[in-house]
Amino acid sequence: MIDYHLHGNFCGHATGELEEYVTSALEKGFDEIGFSAHLPKVIDPDPYHAMLEEDLPRYVDLVLSLQNRYSDRVLIKLGIEADYFEGHEEKTARLLDKYPFDYVLGSVHFLDDWHFTSRVGLPRYETEDPNEVFPRYYMLLKRMISTGLFDIAAHADAIRREHFQPPDTLENEYREVARLLSSNGMSIEVSTAGIRRGAGSIYPDLKLLGACIEAGVTVTLGSDAHRPEEVGLDYDEAFKALRRLGVTGIATYDRRKAVIKTLPVLNES
Ligand SMILES: [Zn+2]
Ligand SMILES: [Zn+2]
Repeated sequence: MIDYHLHGNFCGHATGELEEYVTSALEKGFDEIGFSAHLPKVIDPDPYHAMLEEDLPRYVDLVLSLQNRYSDRVLIKLGIEADYFEGHEEKTARLLDKYPFDYVLGSVHFLDDWHFTSRVGLPRYETEDPNEVFPRYYMLLKRMISTGLFDIAAHADAIRREHFQPPDTLENEYREVARLLSSNGMSIEVSTAGIRRGAGSIYPDLKLLGACIEAGVTVTLGSDAHRPEEVGLDYDEAFKALRRLGVTGIATYDRRKAVIKTLPVLNES
């Protein structure tokens, strides 16, 4: 079993030492995990959202030392979750190139000044217009994918919440996102965080995931754990979705190259 989206106390909104996540993963029988702390923001640094740039070398060293220390029990990958800030691609690329990351999650957490994935951004869902927000969100997501800076699209429709849905179908957007992921050689993350963050189901929506599978896009798995006990949370839901869509392979990453592994549990009927 694999969990490629683990945080830890390098940012202000997550808790727990990285080693506590390793312990939790071992208890739950994971054989491969990846840390994906938030990459320092390339604009307006904010230690609540992401570690500061001066902490990045310590993060990399710690993950590599855990990788070494636990090598006989669990495979630990050095990942990172990078925000997409339009117009700041070069600085993002420079930061990513400095370290030997196994994979880079690409994420949209901000829509202009709205940090919609954060607790402080929640009240704005009451006043924003989905007709206006969804097209803008998908535009940004597609630009993020097209930069070629990232390996995996994390929580690809995190803007979705149970009461915040587009009135019209997004099927054209889904097809376009799938096509872009495929042509950029990226994977899509199946994230169980949507279940506990107001979307009421996994990210992405099954229709978006289905469009991706149809386009041949590979899949990674993650809980987006911000506390050690959240490692692998709600994985039964993720497996259910993957089985329904006939997915049997999961993408893993090594120095930014995808390697597809078969998960035995996915073959259960
Ligand atoms: Zn976070
Ligand atoms: Zn995220």
